Amino acid sequence: MPVYKAEAIVLHQRALGESDRIVTLFTRENGKLRAVAKGVRRPTSRLGGRIEPFTHARLMLARGRTLDVIAQAEIVRAFGGVRKDLFRAAYAAYIVELVDRGLAERDRHEDVFLLAGDALEKLDRGRAEDAEIVTLWFGLRLAGLLGYQPETSACVECGRRLPRARGVAEHWAFSPPNGGALCPSCRPHDAQAMSVSCGVLGACEYLTTAPDGQWGRLRITPAQRAELGRLVQVHLEHRLEVRLRAPQVIKRLAGAPPA
Ligand SMILES: [Zn+2]
Repeated sequence: MPVYKAEAIVLHQRALGESDRIVTLFTRENGKLRAVAKGVRRPTSRLGGRIEPFTHARLMLARGRTLDVIAQAEIVRAFGGVRKDLFRAAYAAYIVELVDRGLAERDRHEDVFLLAGDALEKLDRGRAEDAEIVTLWFGLRLAGLLGYQPETSACVECGRRLPRARGVAEHWAFSPPNGGALCPSCRPHDAQAMSVSCGVLGACEYLTTAPDGQWGRLRITPAQRAELGRLVQVHLEHRLEVRLRAPQVIKRLAGAPPA
């Protein structure tokens, strides 16, 4: 069997037969693909610990007739801090779910690969209270790379700029079908539009466009963060045409009733 090398982030895995697993990988070179890891559920397997979900690994794969087989793995970044903490792990699961749902198999996206590695690194090393913002930042940047960046700097219908002053009491909204903001005059045209404060639309714009490393300066209240989380989730679910599981798990962990 011909072999090839790949650098990958492990998205998820499931049991196969008595001792094997099918592992979904997001590779830098070939995009998302599924591969078989043989014998990894045996306690003596050395490979098993190197292909846990969220791991960034260098792999040697053998081409198979249907699925390729993982022959060797070497950990590049284990992201152990993510796995040890229930909340960080839940946000990491959100990140890998977005990659999994957002990309087709064998659809090469090196930019998304680098972004996902960067987001997992920030989750792993950053403060626990930043985990949600890191994940929303990832979701917005992913949307941009896949061609559906939300338009939140101006009304998508009439082009009116979002007011910049703090605490503006205008009733703006976000329209999932239009993928952007609606001003108070245009929002009645869209029954699906959800109310969003100007501050949250501004925060969305900031996370989408701020240079790397500066997004951490964003200061928003917990209520605004929750509102931003809903906006990002609704936008991505509409574009990907899926109901995301990870945000529901996070809500349950936080003790809030699921939406
Ligand atoms: Zn308008």
